[in-house]
Parts: sequence; structure tokens; C-alpha cells
Amino acid sequence: MATNHQLQGLATRAARAGGEPDPTTGAITPPIVQSTTYRQPGIGRHLGYTYSRADNPTVAALERCLGALEAAPPAVAFASGLAAETALFVACCGQGDHVVVSDVVYGGTVRLLRGVLARLGIAATFVDATDLAATAAAIGDRTRLLFVETPANPTLRLCDVRALADLARTRGVPLAVDNTFLTAAVQRPLDLGAAVSLCSTTKLVEGHNGAIGGAVVTRDPALLERLRWLRKSTGAIQSPHDAWLTLRGARTLPLRAAQQGRNALAVAEWLQRRREVAAVHYPGLDDFPQRELARRQHGELHGSVLACELRGGAAAAHAFAERLELCLLAESLGSVETLVTHPASMTHGDVPAAERARLGIADALVRLSIGLEDPADLFADLDQALRAAAAAAAAAPTAQEAGRG
Ligand SMILES: *Cc1c(COP(=O)(O)O)cnc(C)c1O
Repeated sequence: MATNHQLQGLATRAARAGGEPDPTTGAITPPIVQSTTYRQPGIGRHLGYTYSRADNPTVAALERCLGALEAAPPAVAFASGLAAETALFVACCGQGDHVVVSDVVYGGTVRLLRGVLARLGIAATFVDATDLAATAAAIGDRTRLLFVETPANPTLRLCDVRALADLARTRGVPLAVDNTFLTAAVQRPLDLGAAVSLCSTTKLVEGHNGAIGGAVVTRDPALLERLRWLRKSTGAIQSPHDAWLTLRGARTLPLRAAQQGRNALAVAEWLQRRREVAAVHYPGLDDFPQRELARRQHGELHGSVLACELRGGAAAAHAFAERLELCLLAESLGSVETLVTHPASMTHGDVPAAERARLGIADALVRLSIGLEDPADLFADLDQALRAAAAAAAAAPTAQEAGRG
């Protein structure tokens, strides 16, 4: 008996969708189907699967779950978030076409567009998507997709998805939202009017730093078919084992998103009270400049990621990131472990310094993705690292003078 997951709450869908007990064995956890090929009962007949580059039962189980979370048909799962983005851009654009992209996005998205797709004749214009007039002006005759990330990486600035969806609709261009930071547990772009919700499942969805993956969710059947065809044609499907791990992660996604969101708010408020910290950016803070939009778009939860600017510039930021012990210096976000990155030298190191400055990615900016540790333990670690950062910043001018000789 198939369950209509669309009628159930989000936690039920996360815990159960896509995982009907195996009809032959009763296994409750879906088996990992490693088979690359499938016996066909006759020529031109098959049981739904022919070859695992096209489709695979374990991947399909994950796809049913991720689709159900956004009240949509099964998602299309890819080997990585960037494989999902590549398929989306290629599905929407051919040579001579154009995409409009929000200007503060994942560094890999910029590299894909400027380094790979530009050479194939797919142009991109990066705009401040908080400015509707500028975004409207960037859309031209050959624009085939409006692609935004909200909250943005790493500044946490938000785009108004509903307003952008209205704009996109009047211009006949689909709106895609990179929902990696929040996931469907917190923000559901399709319900806000977007045509496409895309996610790197590597981050909060899988949640345990155990599997790379990406997924596209849409209610547009033609786009779904095109994405599946592109996935088969380019060989970009997720492996069955990674899909299984990702589905296991998705089962607890709402629970982790809620607790990590609460922990992130606690850390953000704690950091705000520290004199070593010049500014804290987190959509759950009362003084967040887009507080109302955050409430409208995410409700009471705002994800695991926050950013803070230290007093004392790059020297302080480096010392802070390197002195943290419980919080691990590593790229990525959303996992059960608290991770710290220095965007200017790590995730956004490829972005020219002048552009980083314009986008608000200061040298003193540090990004934290808060995990599931006890906040008291995080505070103790942050406290010792902030003291070290202040000492390093005080010593920095002398170091510069030494370097000047
Ligand atoms: C990590 C990330 C991606 C790319 O995902 P991969 O799974 O690493 O390929 C895309 N967008 C955002 C916002 C990300 O954080």
C-alpha cells in the first residue's frame, strides 16, 4: 500500500518517505542495490530499471524522500551538488543563452559558470539579488534561468524568494534556489514560488560528513525528465551507497536542523557579547538587517551557519580559526561537528580581493557551522580561541613592521 506522504507532517515524511518495507524480505531499511544491470523479462520490457547510470532503486528511495519533503515528485539525485548544478544549467541553457545569478554564491558555482560554462557559450551575469530593479535589468532576451542562493555563503545575506519568483514569472524565466544552507527542513523554495529547489546533500541533509551528493527538486515534469536524461547522458548519478547514507541522514534532518539552529543562535548571541568580535551575522539575531524576511522565509529556525568579524583583521581571524580545537578547521557545513572556515583564504580564495571586499567577505570574517555539541563546550573552545586571536591581533603590527624591512 502506497502512503500519500504529501498529507503527512515534515518529520514523518523525513523519517518514512521513500522507505516502504522491501516486499520480498520485509527489510525496513532499503537494501543497497549495487547491481549495475537488471534482468529484463523480454525485449523492450523491464521492471523499472535497466542500468544503474540511468536509475537505481536505492537512489530512487532517496529521491522519493527528498521530493516528499518539498511536496514534489521524486527528486533527481546527482553525484554532487555541483553535478546537480551543472545538469540544471545545461537543462535550461544552450549555446548563446544566459543565466542571472546572485552575486554572493558558493565559490564552486562561480567557478562552474566562469571557468566551464562560459567556454561553452553559456554566459552569466552576477547581480545583487536583494536589489529587484538590478535583477530585473539583468534579465535579457536570452536569459533562461535566475539562480540565487539564500542565505548567501558566507555573508548570510538573504534574497526575497517570493519577490524574485514573481519577477521571474513575469519575465518567463524559471527561478532556482540553492537551498543547501537551510534544506527543506527549514525553507521550502517551491512553496515560496520558485520553480526549482537545488541542494548539495553533502551538507546538512546527509549531515555526518559521510557522502557527497546533490539533488534537484521541481514540480515541472518536463524539467524532471530532461534532468534524468542529462544525468544518464553525462554519467552524473549518485552511487547507491552514497544515496543510502544520504537517505539515512535525511531521516533525522528535521531534528538536526532544529537543534543545530538552536545551537547556532546560542553561539551567535554569545559571540555578540564578546569585545573581540566586531560583528555577528546570523538571521536569527534580533539585529539582523533582514530579520522580518528571515521570519517570513524560515520561521523560527535559521540553519547552522553564522559568520563573525573579528577585531584585528586577518591576523585575528587566522589565529582564531587555527586555535579552535573542538571546532574543526575544515571546509563544508551542516554536519554534526562544528566546523570553522576562513572564507577569504579557503572557500572564496579564488575570488579576487577587490570583489571579495565589495561582497562583504572581509579578511576578518570567519564562518562557523554549528554542530550538535553541548553549547557549553563550544563556548569554552571559542573563549580560548578568542583570547588567542586578541593576542595575535595585538602582536600583528609588530609582525608587519618586521616584514617591511
Ligand atoms: C557545497 C555547496 C555546493 C556544492 O556541493 P558539492 O556537493 O560540494 O558539489 C553548492 N552550493 C552550496 C551553497 C554549497 O555549500
